[in-house]
Amino acid sequence: MKRKSAILALTLCLILGTGGYAGEIRAEEAAETQNTEEESSGDEVLEKARTMYAQYDYDAAIIYLKEQENFSENKDYMDLAAKCQVAKSSLVEYPLEQVTHVFFHTLIKDTSKAFDGDSDEAGYNQVMTTIDEFNKIIQIMYDKGYVLVSPHDMATVNEDGTMSRGKILLPEGKIPFVLSQDDVSYYHYMDGDGFASRLVLDENGQVKAEYIEDDGSVSVGNYDLVPILDEFIRQHPDFSYRGRKGILAMTGYDGVLGYRTDIAYKTRENLQDDQKAFLDSHPDFDYDAEVAQATEVAEAMKANGWEFASHTWGHRNATDSTAEELQTDNEKWEAYVAPILGKTDMIIFAFGADIGGWEGYSMDNAKFAYYKSRGYHYYCNVDSSQYFVQITDQYLRQGRRNLDGYRMYYNPDMLSDLFDVSEVWDSSRPTPVPGM
Ligand SMILES: [Zn+2]
Repeated sequence: MKRKSAILALTLCLILGTGGYAGEIRAEEAAETQNTEEESSGDEVLEKARTMYAQYDYDAAIIYLKEQENFSENKDYMDLAAKCQVAKSSLVEYPLEQVTHVFFHTLIKDTSKAFDGDSDEAGYNQVMTTIDEFNKIIQIMYDKGYVLVSPHDMATVNEDGTMSRGKILLPEGKIPFVLSQDDVSYYHYMDGDGFASRLVLDENGQVKAEYIEDDGSVSVGNYDLVPILDEFIRQHPDFSYRGRKGILAMTGYDGVLGYRTDIAYKTRENLQDDQKAFLDSHPDFDYDAEVAQATEVAEAMKANGWEFASHTWGHRNATDSTAEELQTDNEKWEAYVAPILGKTDMIIFAFGADIGGWEGYSMDNAKFAYYKSRGYHYYCNVDSSQYFVQITDQYLRQGRRNLDGYRMYYNPDMLSDLFDVSEVWDSSRPTPVPGM
């Protein structure tokens, strides 16, 4: 039943992707460039301040530079502070109700395996995005002036739990947007279908994806959205507003980030067939080590601008569930997911299935009252319109647009503000994309 829900999740959530060899080459080039700059300046302070400048964080850069003891003797520092001052005066406040939000699922690394005619092919074709498509999408959006922001920039939570409107300040012509990725669990049912198997830290402490090759050997590289976007922002820091990356919408029943961290893997009770098969084929499985590794990866991601949201523990349909069922589900998220990913104040609804209509939430909505009481203040559904943003003194709500095979095939016109589908479409997709 959970397996089915995961596939349905795919069917109704949605995805995207890029990456691979070219990305690795660019990474090397970027590393070389950085080294050169470091040699010429020999100054980590300057590097850090330059990144703040590139990411539109002018006030922070000025404060940071001025608090250096040798500020007034360092011409580079003073020049950069002056540049920040000038840039600051050109900032404009972007209308929060016009911030779009796009989302993806796990990216397809090997299309020949995802689109191999098996029973999962239709779902992958509908709701997933290939790495090649994702690479093109972010390059096009970057070229158009899009900049990654967070819902936490759009509204802030006050100490008493009420909300205040935020402020997004960008140069004229820049367009803020939010990006999320759903179900970054590397569910068992995806094994062998051309996806990464988990996220790991490489020897430099960077988050990378593992991919299991046909011969069983493990490759480490930019095989999913997180490392691809990290790499892109290393090369193009101005694609990120003050260091923001994306939001990962996470369930818990198969673990997180490819680690089998749910309590069922420890107790071995209530195991699904594929979970049992996994444990049977991994006799050396070490639950505590699994949790420790997942936590380490999550910490590195958060330190690097990534955020996590609840996608419900069991990929539940929140529209169809009762408030009591959502409470039982959320208690599992808090018990077995939050200790690894951290407490979150954001829910990204599985299936896009919301707890209320477009009019908004009120405290007589038992589901909202429960979630709000547990510290959730940001709520995202799925909505095909360009913008759907509600900010009240109690919550922020935002609709998300799926950039996947289904949307690109059936409604390319609905994506024209973002990119031209004909420039992005991966020709290895079987057509027609099955209808929903
Ligand atoms: Zn989902």
